[in-house]
Formats: sequence, C-alpha cells, structure tokens
Amino acid sequence: MSSIIQLLPDHVANQIAAGEVVQRPASVVKELLENAVDAKATDIKLIIKDAGKALVQVIDNGLGMSVTDARLCFERHATSKIRQAEDLFSLHTKGFRGEALASIAAIAHVEMKTKQDQEELGNHIIIEGSKFVSQEPAVLPKGTSFAVKNLFYNIPARRNFLKSETVEFRHVVDEFQRVALAHPNIYFTMYHNGSEMFNLPNSNFRQRIVTIFSGKTNEKLVPVQEETEIVTIQGFVGKPEFAKKNKSEQFFFVNDRYIKSGYLHHAVMNAYDGLLPNGAQPSYFIYLNVPPNTIDINIHPTKTEIKFDDEQALYAILRSAIKHSLGQFNVAPALDFDRDPNLDTPYDYQNKNAEYPTVQVDRTYNPFSDEKQSSPFSGGSSSYKKAETTQSWESLYVGLKQDTLEVENFTFENEEVTASFFDEKEEEQVAKHTYQIQKKYIVSPIKSGMVIINQHRAHQRVLYEQFLTNMTVHQASSQQLLFPLQFHFSANEMKIITELQPALENTGFVFETLNEEYLQISGIPANTSESEVASVLEQLISDLQDGIPDSSFSQNDTIAKSMAKSLAVKTGIYLTEKEQENLVNNLFACKDPNVSPFQKPTFITMRVEDIDKRFAL
Ligand code: ADP
Ligand code: MG
Repeated sequence: MSSIIQLLPDHVANQIAAGEVVQRPASVVKELLENAVDAKATDIKLIIKDAGKALVQVIDNGLGMSVTDARLCFERHATSKIRQAEDLFSLHTKGFRGEALASIAAIAHVEMKTKQDQEELGNHIIIEGSKFVSQEPAVLPKGTSFAVKNLFYNIPARRNFLKSETVEFRHVVDEFQRVALAHPNIYFTMYHNGSEMFNLPNSNFRQRIVTIFSGKTNEKLVPVQEETEIVTIQGFVGKPEFAKKNKSEQFFFVNDRYIKSGYLHHAVMNAYDGLLPNGAQPSYFIYLNVPPNTIDINIHPTKTEIKFDDEQALYAILRSAIKHSLGQFNVAPALDFDRDPNLDTPYDYQNKNAEYPTVQVDRTYNPFSDEKQSSPFSGGSSSYKKAETTQSWESLYVGLKQDTLEVENFTFENEEVTASFFDEKEEEQVAKHTYQIQKKYIVSPIKSGMVIINQHRAHQRVLYEQFLTNMTVHQASSQQLLFPLQFHFSANEMKIITELQPALENTGFVFETLNEEYLQISGIPANTSESEVASVLEQLISDLQDGIPDSSFSQNDTIAKSMAKSLAVKTGIYLTEKEQENLVNNLFACKDPNVSPFQKPTFITMRVEDIDKRFAL
C-alpha cells in the first residue's frame, strides 16, 4: 500500500494555526501591542479602521529588527524570546511562541516597516497570505510599524463570522485597555477611523486607571498593598458605594499580563462580604507579582487563564489585603466609632422593616402553603396555577364593582382572624380593594376568588408597554431638568449611547451635549426620577454589552425591557393603597398583562373552590 501521510505546506499550517491565534481584530491588536511592549517601546500608537476589520496598525519606537530578523519574524516558531526550554520558567516577556506574526501574515495583507536605532536604513516588507511581495530598504524612524489590512480576506467564512462593528470595537478597546493598564509607564494612543479614542501619557498605575476610566474614578479608588514571599500585591479597589452593575472595571494582572481568574475574583468578592447590594460588582485593578517559576505560563496564547503554584495562599493573602484596605479607609465597618450605623447591617437586611403587620399576615396565610416557596400559594398545585394564569384576564374583574358585599366579606374575615396584628391605621381602611403582602405581592379579591399580583413583575409589564408605545409613536413625555445632569462614560459606553440616542430620545430623554466623554442630559422620561437616571443608563449599557440589535424594533424592545427592569418598583417597597390600585388597574389595561417582559407570570389567581379544598383537608 502506498503511504498517504504528507507534511502540510507551511502556508496551510500557518492558516490552521491562525485559526487559534487570531479570532478577531482584537486578537491582532493584542499580539501587536504585546510585541511592541516586548520590544521595549516607550510610545505605542494603535490605529484601527472599521473596528479593525479594515486595518489594525501598531507603531512603536522600540528596538526594531535587523534585515534578517525582519524576514525571519514571519516564520513559525521564530522568536527572539526563548532559546531553550528552561527559559520558559524565567519568562519576562509576553510572547515566546513565535506564532503570532506567522499566523497573522497567513490571513491578511501585512505591511511592516522596521529600523534598529544604530542602523542608517530600515526595512519595508509587504507580505500577503504568507507570500512575500516585496522587501526593500527604506528611510524610517527607529522602531516598528505593523499594518494588518483586510483581516481574513482569504477565509470568507471567518470574515463573515465577525460580529457587528460595535462588538468588534469593544473587543479591541478591551485589549487596548488591558495592555495600557498593565504598562502605565508607556505612552499609548488609540485612533479609530481617524479620531482619537485614547491619549494616555506615561504615568503611574493610579493615573492610568483614572485617565482610562474618567477623572471621577479617582475618588472611588482605595489602594491595596501587600508584600509577602510568594506574592507582591498592589493596585486599587473601588469603594462599595461606587459598585457597578457589570464587571467592566475588574482587572487582574500577573507579572504585567492581564489574566482572568474566577478563583481570585471570588477572593475579592469575599473581602467585600456584606458591603455590596445583591448583584453589585465592585471595581478592582489588582497587580500581582509572583516569581515567574511559580506560575505555569505554558498556556495558549489567546487564553487569559493562568495556573499558580499556591492558589490557596494567594486567595487568602489577596482577600485579607483587600479587607484591610476597605477597613483602613473607613469604607467597611471597622474601628470607626463615628460610622453610619447602617453600615453595621448588611445591605440584605437594611431595607427590611420588621414592624410591618405584613409579617403577621403571612402567618395567617401560611397554612395554605405546603411548600416553602416565595409565593405562599405557589406550592402544591402548580398545575392549577398554570391553567389559571393563561386564562383571559378580562373575566377576573367582571362583577366586582357590583358585588361589594364580597369585597367586604373578604376584608371582614381577614380582620377578624388577624385583628390583633393590625394597628389602628389599618383598621380604618374598611372595604379595601387591595392588600400588599410582604411588600412583594398585591392581593385583591375578584369574583371567583382572589388574584395575587407580583408587584415588581407587574410594574415591569406596565412600564415596558408604556415605553414601547412612546418609542413607536414618538410622543414620550419628558420632564425638563432645572439643572442638567452630567455623566461620564468610557469611549465604549459612549459609542453605545450615541448609537441609541434617537431611540432613547423617544423614551423622553433629552441629550444636550454629547462629546467624547461627557453626556449632558437636560430632560428625562416622565416616570423617572433624577436619582434613577444613572442606574437606568448603566443597566442599559450592561444589557447592550453583546451588541446593539440591528433592527429598530428589537432596539426599542431591548431599551424598553432594560428601562422597565431598572425602574419597576422593587420587592421590599411599600406601596400605598392608591399606588396598589393604580398598579393593578394599569396592569390589566396592558396588552399582555399575564407575563412580565421577560415572560414570567405577573399574577396568579385562586378560586374560592380551591381555597375551600384547602380547608377540607
Ligand atoms: P513571539 O512574540 O512569541 O516571539 P511573534 O510572532 O509575535 O512571536 O514575533 C516574532 C518575533 O518578531 C519576536 O520574537 C520579535 O523578535 C520580533 N518582533 C515582533 N514584533 C516586534 C516589534 N514590534 N519590534 C521588534 N521586534 C519584533
Ligand atoms: Mg508576540
């Protein structure tokens, strides 16, 4: 039998390798920036066009390459960074595999210009799809410029796989920020389609963070410092009150390299224990330095995970260093006698009000329940619940108005059983139509029995439909602000908001000035309060992290959902009787009152027969 195994030609091997190293424009950005850092540049420019799809160019003032190296660097496994296997354990550079340039050159049009300081002339090389087109001497400044054009021009399938400009741009910015944050001593600039996105003069860690994430960041940061044999930690954590809804300001660097670590993240969160409301994400910028031989760097170049020798010790040291900092700067309840007593109560408990009679009401209802679920009626009879939820809502209120007797009966019975639990204020309210339970549900008698409404979900539905109508009919009511609000956003966040500006204006927002960094808002939607604006916008940006939908319908839908989520009355908020009634009326005036915008049931009903059955047990 003849042999069938063949060695793959180099350009094919390179294309295959490229599939692993280069997933998107941001991967090219990362590789080129890291090469420039490794070449000891002090000034690095990143220039991109069309989110990097058309061009990624990195210009550095580093060491440059000799004539031979300029050609060799495009070969696979060509690296100046290690010579023998042992070098892997004392690595101080970012690259070492010698794979990146060969991979990039296999799938793009590459133009490289490079000159070493001591040479008169530099080299100008053009290479396309692994084929050298030209190499010529040229008059050049010291350093290297790499221009990578038309990424994936020869692999249409991968090109088509790229996401929208917004998404690819965000990935590029992420990579740029990671490298820039790790190297504050290097001057970085970034341009997109001709406009300057970042200008980061060389400085220290704190200033670098502040220039990237806005001047306001400065007041949020608390320094962290710790030195032990196995690790040196420096950096900053954000004060709890500035916590965000997303993880966009969480960074770990190990030996100047950005890494991701769920384990270390856990250590940080642990240090914040009890200081953050549910789901809030603290900002952190943590720089760890460990001896190179105690980490396994032999990881895939595109991966950002890392393996430490002594993870557990690292966890403990990091956690206590942060706890210490939070305590020292009086942001945690430690050794501060003048502190706000609220700080002593973890957030989870702060808003709970023990004296409300609703607690007792719950006791009355407990016998109904045979499962410990959030809704006292949700256990045991889920099949009935489902059937009832899908039933047409119009029938629920039929006959209610005429049948006041029934309403009063319900009220009376309730008071008789639990009279001692209610205070006078409650007793005055005869013939109530609605009751709030556990500051979570609104119960209201209906002809067939009762309806139990989830206040948060119901309000989400109401707001969602309101916003959607306003946005499609273009007639939102807006409240003019006496003093316009100013917000600072990152370049990335600003791009999202600018793109959505027309849709947002249809909800009632009025943007006055919109420059690269600041957003001035002079009008806000009628049903929004000033203090809610920041969290509405933050939630919106967080909901749009994965890209802005293409069609205007789904854009409106996403915005309406996000704003409904932020603005809907939360569980734990007391509603007056008027508010309860409004909510109930508004819910049942909705087009689709049965479910929240996120398709969760907004209410359940319970028929008298069902209640009877429970008592027959
Ligand atoms: P690696 O970074 O893993 O060594 P690369 O393919 O990224 O592999 O680069 C190959 C080699 O090309 C590097 O080892 C370095 O010697 C040289 N090189 C790449 N970029 C630059 C640059 N901007 N300045 C000077 N030398 C560079
Ligand atoms: Mg490299």
